[in-house]
Amino acid sequence: MSFDQQHIFSESTRGCLTQAEIDSYVEQNMAAANLREVEMHLLDCMVCSDAIDGAMDLRELEARQTQSSSSPLKWIFRIAAVGLVLIGVVFAMKLYSAETQYETAFADAFVPYANDITATTRAVGSTNDDVDSTVVAAMAAYDQENYQEALESLKHAMAEGSDEDLLPLYAAISEIQLGHYEAALTYLDFVRVNDPDRYEEVLWYTGLVYVKLNQPTEAKEYLQQLVNESQFYSPRAQQVFEQAFGEKLSPQAIR
Ligand SMILES: [Zn+2]
Repeated sequence: MSFDQQHIFSESTRGCLTQAEIDSYVEQNMAAANLREVEMHLLDCMVCSDAIDGAMDLRELEARQTQSSSSPLKWIFRIAAVGLVLIGVVFAMKLYSAETQYETAFADAFVPYANDITATTRAVGSTNDDVDSTVVAAMAAYDQENYQEALESLKHAMAEGSDEDLLPLYAAISEIQLGHYEAALTYLDFVRVNDPDRYEEVLWYTGLVYVKLNQPTEAKEYLQQLVNESQFYSPRAQQVFEQAFGEKLSPQAIR
């Protein structure tokens, strides 16, 4: 036996491969000296050859999966997902700007109805001082823009049976200022039915509440009447509706 044969023989008798050796053989990062030793062993050992084959199959499978995760189809899905998010953002921004539009229109148009009660009450005098003092207190709070207090006193005065017709209108304005729009509409309905002298004011504030609530159909119902019938409110009604909803209200023939 030559020296070389002995050497080869001695190498081929090494023990079976460890898992670490199998991994580094499959990953092709085994040191050259070890590689030769391992390959000699594989020629002789079916068990280790099978282990290597199995490890190579597994590695190939993993490589294919990694590749498929960056396949064109996956990218199409990713781009589509990003697109959907962008559409959502644009939609939300449009919604926000629409909201700003009608809220700005409301804020530009809304002016609280002026207090013309207190002076009249004082001038005329009354047989019921308690009710009057409640009304005076309510209107003082109203003038100071303390709408919570104004509303409480107004409700008190109305419950006590004040014969002042304007109280529900001031209650409606106070509710609007407090952001209670449904309550404001209830008071405005009451005034519209019971106080024909304030008909235009009621149409105006009711229309404005519906602008604020972003309800163009209802807003139009009230504001259109002012466009048709009120010299004072017609230009304001056209202005606020167009600013809020981007639609012109033209005077219509009164049936
Ligand atoms: Zn072996």
